[in-house]
Amino acid sequence: MNTEEIMKRDAENVMGTYARYDLCLEKGNGATCYSPEGKKYIDFSSGIGVNSLGFCDKGWVEAITKQANMIQHISNLFYTYPCSKLAEMVLKRTSMQKMFFANSGAEANEGAIKTARKYSFQKYGENRYEIITLVNSFHGRTMATITATGQEDYHKYFAPFVKGFSYAKANDIDDVKSKINEKTCAIMLELVQGEGGVVPLEKDFVSNISKICKEKDIIFIVDEVQTGIGRTGTLFAYEQFSIEPDLVTLAKGLGAGLPIGGILFGKKTCDVLKPGDHGTTFGGNPITCAGGIEVLKRIDDAFLKEVSEKGAYIKDAVEKMDNVVSVTGMGMMLGIEVKNKTAKDVVKTCIENGLIPLTAKEKIRLLPPLTITYEELDEGLEILKKALSN
Ligand SMILES: *Cc1c(COP(=O)(O)O)cnc(C)c1O
Repeated sequence: MNTEEIMKRDAENVMGTYARYDLCLEKGNGATCYSPEGKKYIDFSSGIGVNSLGFCDKGWVEAITKQANMIQHISNLFYTYPCSKLAEMVLKRTSMQKMFFANSGAEANEGAIKTARKYSFQKYGENRYEIITLVNSFHGRTMATITATGQEDYHKYFAPFVKGFSYAKANDIDDVKSKINEKTCAIMLELVQGEGGVVPLEKDFVSNISKICKEKDIIFIVDEVQTGIGRTGTLFAYEQFSIEPDLVTLAKGLGAGLPIGGILFGKKTCDVLKPGDHGTTFGGNPITCAGGIEVLKRIDDAFLKEVSEKGAYIKDAVEKMDNVVSVTGMGMMLGIEVKNKTAKDVVKTCIENGLIPLTAKEKIRLLPPLTITYEELDEGLEILKKALSN
């Protein structure tokens, strides 16, 4: 089947909840992929920050294939090796104490919200349940997480929304303070707002929030669904902010292409959830966890150093291109503000010429596979340069 036939069948059968580009991909290797017609593309998207090891990485394919040939699923009523091993590997590299496995970022955030509320309920009773999130944030598509998402666009059609959320301005500590009251049980934020336009938070702002949370026994939730697993040059972005969150959520890059999410619990929250409080059928699936183990094995200190170097290399190259106003972000999570052109039009031109970038709000967003080679980077940057040129 060719691209046109696949697009037609998709339009006839798949619910139209996505504004897709006219592009169908059939296979890939590293950061290079091909349409059914054999046209080549350099990938600067990682499937929205998911394919941390690129397409069909050899070690990852071997790990999941081996596991698929052993046992693919048995439910959380029983134990399997990959789930226990992956949790141990993640926790060893953080100051966190326990891990829960979910299947997506939104689901991880749901679990974190539940944990914060139970912690507060047990200690302070039923009227301390409010969660402060940031304006322009993104936390997912379930009822609680669209409510947590601080963007008006998400708060229509589906009312009533979940009670107990309020929104403070990013990088405005006085606004956060003004939203805190005796009902506040948690503050939840992304350290670099991804969907909101690759907006990094200021270090002072974040450490002030961390301090306030400690003082007032407010649970500090860091949503690392997009920033986690090496994307910003450290395993988790929070390591660069010298903070110790009470809950960290992750997803996208952890599975390298298979659906997985996770919650990490700090000292304060590691005893909150008991049998029956929370669960999910597919959580801790042996195949997805086997993929995650390979990801964690590969992302060592040398790998992380390379992520930072490649990120700086991209930033430096992009800053020199025509019509670029600014480049924001951390590591290999970058947002480009442009003038005289719209991000959408630039992305369309890039796709026509064999490069797959993303947008985030009014910016072009780059999330290349962490394993991308400098040759692939140069090839992609050349296409981006042409699309941006006067
Ligand atoms: C993508 C994303 C989510 C939602 O993840 P899903 O897997 O789509 O549910 C939540 N938070 C952040 C910061 C994200 O980037």
